[in-house]
Amino acid sequence: MNVKINGPLYSGKAKDVLMTDDPEIVAVRFRDDITAGDGEKKDTLEMKGYYNSVISAKIFEVLEGAGVPTQYLELPEPGCMLARKLDMIPIEVILRNIAAGSIVRRFPFTEGQKFRPPIIQMDYKSDEHGDPMLNEDIILALGIATRDEISEIRRMTLKINDVLVEFFREKGIILPDFKLEFGRDSSGRIRLGDEVSPDTCRLWDMETGKPLDKDIFRRGEEGVVSAYRRVAEMILEMEDIERWNVKI
Ligand code: 5GP
Repeated sequence: MNVKINGPLYSGKAKDVLMTDDPEIVAVRFRDDITAGDGEKKDTLEMKGYYNSVISAKIFEVLEGAGVPTQYLELPEPGCMLARKLDMIPIEVILRNIAAGSIVRRFPFTEGQKFRPPIIQMDYKSDEHGDPMLNEDIILALGIATRDEISEIRRMTLKINDVLVEFFREKGIILPDFKLEFGRDSSGRIRLGDEVSPDTCRLWDMETGKPLDKDIFRRGEEGVVSAYRRVAEMILEMEDIERWNVKI
């Protein structure tokens, strides 16, 4: 894909979105910044963005291969992804297979408890309002998505979970929960956007039970980037390492 990258369009906590000379395509730069607790805890960890970009690209490709529409187009080089421009819906869609994190703090669930069927939680993506939990009536009243879009998002989230639980299981990784963001493409179709990486998923090593994700940073422990590199090593095929020239 031959596009020219132009100026910035939007800057988030861990990624920059840049315009290209094609109005339907954006370039997503994965930065090394890492935050937790709505930006209260911050750091910059060398190579964090690099590994998140290759992990996200691989997962988007796996999902596209399973028939899930995503924003992903290409990873011309680690750190920078070309993606379809989406009109993002400000909802953080969280799917939980196993109780961990905030749900254990906020409700009488036990850490490690399995959810069958999985729980889908929707939070309003708004730092100003502290990402409060939504329900369908609030989403409709806010006018941020239609009833049909909400059911499409739920359907896609369950499909993504089926694909990713199996994908990670084969690689020796447990997927307790993850966060997704969706948007509309130029034809109004809902697509998975943002990223799917150790910043946005809980990933536990099947052998040791240890986290390989942002929980390491949230707990103030060392070894964040080496865990992210380990995830890349576990999920990438030799062919991926060669075509993206990934440093493992
Ligand atoms: P929790 O509700 O336990 O904080 O998070 C549940 C899952 O969603 C975790 O995998 C977590 O990484 C992800 N998640 C929830 N909110 C956010 C967020 O604002 N940013 C990111 N990167 N991930 C989130």
